[in-house]
Amino acid sequence: MMLGNPSNATDAIVNADNYLMVKSQYSLSYNNSKLTTNWTSWHLYPNDITNAADRQDDFRADDMLPAGWYHVTESDFDYATYGFDRGHMCPSADRTSSILNNSATFLMTNMIPQAPNNNQGPWAKLEDYGRSLVNSGYELYIIGGPYGQGGKSAKGTFSILASGVVVPSYTWKIIVVIPNGNNDLSRISNTTRVIAVWMPNNNDTCPMSSLWTSYRVSVDYIESQTGYDFLSNVSSTIQDVIEASVDNQ
Ligand code: MN
Ligand code: MN
Repeated sequence: MMLGNPSNATDAIVNADNYLMVKSQYSLSYNNSKLTTNWTSWHLYPNDITNAADRQDDFRADDMLPAGWYHVTESDFDYATYGFDRGHMCPSADRTSSILNNSATFLMTNMIPQAPNNNQGPWAKLEDYGRSLVNSGYELYIIGGPYGQGGKSAKGTFSILASGVVVPSYTWKIIVVIPNGNNDLSRISNTTRVIAVWMPNNNDTCPMSSLWTSYRVSVDYIESQTGYDFLSNVSSTIQDVIEASVDNQ
């Protein structure tokens, strides 16, 4: 969250639809009406992807939610009925430095009902590309989340799961790319590369074979859709520049 708190989330229980959860592995704003994250943010650098731990696959409810709230479980997504993946926001493969860190990515507060073609296609390709940047000397600040309501899987179009989990209509992600180093915030400038994407949560309009580069937008576009202010800890004059452009590298 070094780059900011896009929705001014807090950990007050009354703030149930913008409830801040800070973990060692990632932070998020939880929405207790949608039963998903609003946004999830994390940092990615070489020490996160050492492959010291295998994929744990221990999907489970998040015990850190307030006790009186509904806790989404692994079985809520019921693939046979709905056909959506339990789509990680912070990817399993971004947290391989320990069993503990990898396991944290399988908490259900890190999952959205994600169309398989989106999740396993261009979304996964962008995740892979991010790790390739880290392996070639960069560190990343990443924030992503769901938007809207109503997605399409191979089983059909759904707006909500039986337990109340909202199916988003889009997925979005912003990646700030800087050379690996120190004093990160101060190194973000008008020429810093920022990748932003906006992908339909729809098996038809976001096919498995499509490239992540086909879904690039500006940060300003995602701000206008979501109402959030991203990169708010970066000076506004720099935000004005790097949020307006669309990555083309
Ligand atoms: Mn995924
Ligand atoms: Mn901004």
